[in-house]
Amino acid sequence: MNRSEYPRSVAIREVGPRDGLQNEAPISVGERVRLIDALSLTGLRRIEAASFVAPSAIPAMAGAEEVMAGIKRKTGIAYSALVPNLRGAERGLAANSDELEVVISASETHNQRNVNRTIDESLAAVIEIVALAHGAGKKVDAIVSTTFGCAYEGDVEPSRVAAIAATLRETGVDGLSFGDTTGMASPRRVHEVLDAIEGAGIAANDVGLHFHNTRGAGLANVLAGLDRGVSQFDASVGGLGGCPYAPGATGNIVTEDLVHMLMDMGIETGVDLDALIGCALLAQELVGRELPGQVMRSGPRSKTVEGATT
Ligand code: ZN
Repeated sequence: MNRSEYPRSVAIREVGPRDGLQNEAPISVGERVRLIDALSLTGLRRIEAASFVAPSAIPAMAGAEEVMAGIKRKTGIAYSALVPNLRGAERGLAANSDELEVVISASETHNQRNVNRTIDESLAAVIEIVALAHGAGKKVDAIVSTTFGCAYEGDVEPSRVAAIAATLRETGVDGLSFGDTTGMASPRRVHEVLDAIEGAGIAANDVGLHFHNTRGAGLANVLAGLDRGVSQFDASVGGLGGCPYAPGATGNIVTEDLVHMLMDMGIETGVDLDALIGCALLAQELVGRELPGQVMRSGPRSKTVEGATT
């Protein structure tokens, strides 16, 4: 693979305040606002700030309206919100979210357990949400979850992912992302999924990838995506997230570790790594546990060590 084929720049969507914190013990609205405001000063251009789910379903995401009203919005940053249904979309738009995110699972069982609907029912809801959002001048990003595997069904056929992606495109969504919800992806699976969606007429450089580092393959999966020209990735600061039922499980890939790797490869992110490391340390303080991020411990560059080390 010729290195010059890597994208010259990569857009990162910071998902720590939603995907990350959703899987941590709840912290206050004020603390969530503080984290988002700090992230707003790092150069990140997309921040997933809230989820308009029922608070009874996910207590850590309660107070979404208060979060969206409390943050100091910076020009040039899109503050997005996950919406599970039309009601959530109405709330998200009323709270002035810049972009709505809808999630459809590639696995029928996962979709049923996640939102209690069939995939076809979810697709029908997306059409309504897109009409509502576009009427308000806002964008919709669709995320295909369990793209690389499902905890209930195991392997997910890439052709199935491609078919759902093609149908989502027809609903008029503005963006498409593919999520490794269960942390089952490997570079092989990334290439197979990208082969399938390219076969369905969707270009790799037009989609986003969303990896969890559950099994340690997160940045390897990013590299597979870069090899194919993917230039949009989701990540969470400090590696916030994980699974409340699996102590020690890691969350999304770590934003500052991703930025560090991309910088060293000469790929632009527009992000100030030192400021981002500051946010990772803040995130760690707010959730009161050690987060898995590596670069916040080791520093941005390895120090020269005298003597015989290997
Ligand atoms: Zn996720």
